[in-house]
Amino acid sequence: MEQVQTELVETITAFAQSDLASGTSGNLSARTDDGMLITPSSVAYQDIGQADLVSMSPDARWATTRNRRPSSEWRLHLDIYAHRPDAHAVVHCHPRFATALAVHSREIGPFHYMVAVAGGANIRCAGYATFGSQELSDNVLAALEDRRACLMAHHGLVTVGDSPAAALALAIEVEALAAHLLTALALGEPPLLSDGQMNDVLNKMQSGAGYGSSPGEEAST
Ligand SMILES: [Zn+2]
Repeated sequence: MEQVQTELVETITAFAQSDLASGTSGNLSARTDDGMLITPSSVAYQDIGQADLVSMSPDARWATTRNRRPSSEWRLHLDIYAHRPDAHAVVHCHPRFATALAVHSREIGPFHYMVAVAGGANIRCAGYATFGSQELSDNVLAALEDRRACLMAHHGLVTVGDSPAAALALAIEVEALAAHLLTALALGEPPLLSDGQMNDVLNKMQSGAGYGSSPGEEAST
């Protein structure tokens, strides 16, 4: 538990200093032995310490040491841990470029080989539903099938990882891809890589290039 707390707070600090953060929107969590730790509602990221994290059980009972409330998106985080054994951390945010695509309910297709870093040939966009709702959680889980990231229509972005640092690194990567796509769209719809080309990339990434696992091992090409 102690190590997870430390890793999560370090990642929250890195998130606060990244381009992904805007106000207090977004939330981060990490899986624990008995549920999850999640960021509190309405606390500035740079002010969040270990004592501000909210502990939550899989049946949504929660406890805090500073009388904090869990993030309003706690259901989404709990459901991801319940349905995705590979997810040990979740990052949800409203970054500028990914959200711009999401307001158009637009997925990120295979316009660039790095799209494969999220686990497949596209990064889907989950259907819109009210924040914090079961419907939103269901929509996101469907869009995350066989993927580690998805956009959320009229809302933002969610990523999962095997650690808080990995989920954050993936969110930064998806935001960069969204920026590239929006820039490329100035010249019209970009051509897409074929299924075969994307399969080659996926196979290469899975065979040891390190993409999508620990960010420190990423090969740069
Ligand atoms: Zn949100």
